[in-house]
Amino acid sequence: MTEIAHAQRDHALLSASGAHRWLHCTPSAKLEATLPDTTSAAARIGTLAHELAELKLQKVFSGLPTRKYNAELKKMQKHELYESIMDDHTNAYVEYIQSIVHAFPSPPFVAIERKVDLTEFVPESFGTSDCIIIGSGKLHVIDYKNGQGVPVPAFDNPQMKMYALGALKAFSLLFPIQEVHVAIVQPKVWDQPSEWSLSVADLLAWGETIKPIAQAAFSGEGAYAPGDHCGFCRAKGTCRARVEQLLDAGSLAPVKPPLISWEEAGAVLKQAEGIVSWYSELKKLALAEALKGGSVPGWKAVEGRGSRDYTDLDAAFAYLKEKGIDEAILYDRRPLTPPQLENALTKKVYKELLAESGHIITRSGAPTLAPDKDKRPAVTNQVKPEDVFDKED
Ligand code: SF4
Repeated sequence: MTEIAHAQRDHALLSASGAHRWLHCTPSAKLEATLPDTTSAAARIGTLAHELAELKLQKVFSGLPTRKYNAELKKMQKHELYESIMDDHTNAYVEYIQSIVHAFPSPPFVAIERKVDLTEFVPESFGTSDCIIIGSGKLHVIDYKNGQGVPVPAFDNPQMKMYALGALKAFSLLFPIQEVHVAIVQPKVWDQPSEWSLSVADLLAWGETIKPIAQAAFSGEGAYAPGDHCGFCRAKGTCRARVEQLLDAGSLAPVKPPLISWEEAGAVLKQAEGIVSWYSELKKLALAEALKGGSVPGWKAVEGRGSRDYTDLDAAFAYLKEKGIDEAILYDRRPLTPPQLENALTKKVYKELLAESGHIITRSGAPTLAPDKDKRPAVTNQVKPEDVFDKED
């Protein structure tokens, strides 16, 4: 039995995906609601990957006709944000869900993109769960994450617990449920999905504990509490509590407005100049200390992301050619950039052959923030195109 809801990916004030934030910093949700939602390219790529994953699940579990599937797939693959690796990653997600479904003695209930009601625990809240599977007393809640910047483990994950609560409330009258299993498939971070299990009693007990916190968050009450959860907060750049915590500039007086002004932002930028390089330098020193076996409380040295290399490049490529792989696939032929060509040709030849013949244009660099004593003139978005693209003379 399969159910597909095609839920709109809209968001409640107290969303499941933001729960790790508003559970720690209760006034953040109301503050975020006053700020524009600047959707990043990474978020839009994530949305496309989710749509691709959903399409594949529809084909596998709801018998979406092959012609329709192929037409939709083609459309997505032509999307400007499509990356071929998306297919591998969404295939891994679908295979994981198939492995869970096939482990049941008889076909379980499967719901894809199911919108779940969370209002029993959190005011006016709902969430959209990527995949819910129920059978033999077990509830599985699975989420796909396309990002790679921040690993999201399933262990004690409030977003997953909220989806599980919603699924439990929606389906426990239809299906007996004793065990709850949550999993996050994040292929850019982990080879294997991150999994965690808990009992129905523990899940419901957690649901009770969040009720008063959710009520405070819904009313915008409580203290601003900076921490790791600030990373995706819309207020993270100008949140006073965060700025003051970062700069250790004293405690937050309740009479001050929650967002700093541009005058204050200018002063903060000046005060904070050098913090980034100082921080990375301190991290290097702490890493050296940890590698020496010393103790840096709260920190440890771990292995970085590994990389792949050929054991013998010549032998590997000779083998691939022998197997019929075209040489054009093996090498990336790129033109030299103008500065590289200037180096290769000498300044004089470069000037005669390229610059003076009108084959080179100079583009302005991306705008950057600089102190007002900087010699370059100030620019705004009002700059005319002819000021940005000038022929080199
Ligand atoms: S940035 Fe400010 S409002 Fe947002 S979660 Fe952090 S402390 Fe709370």
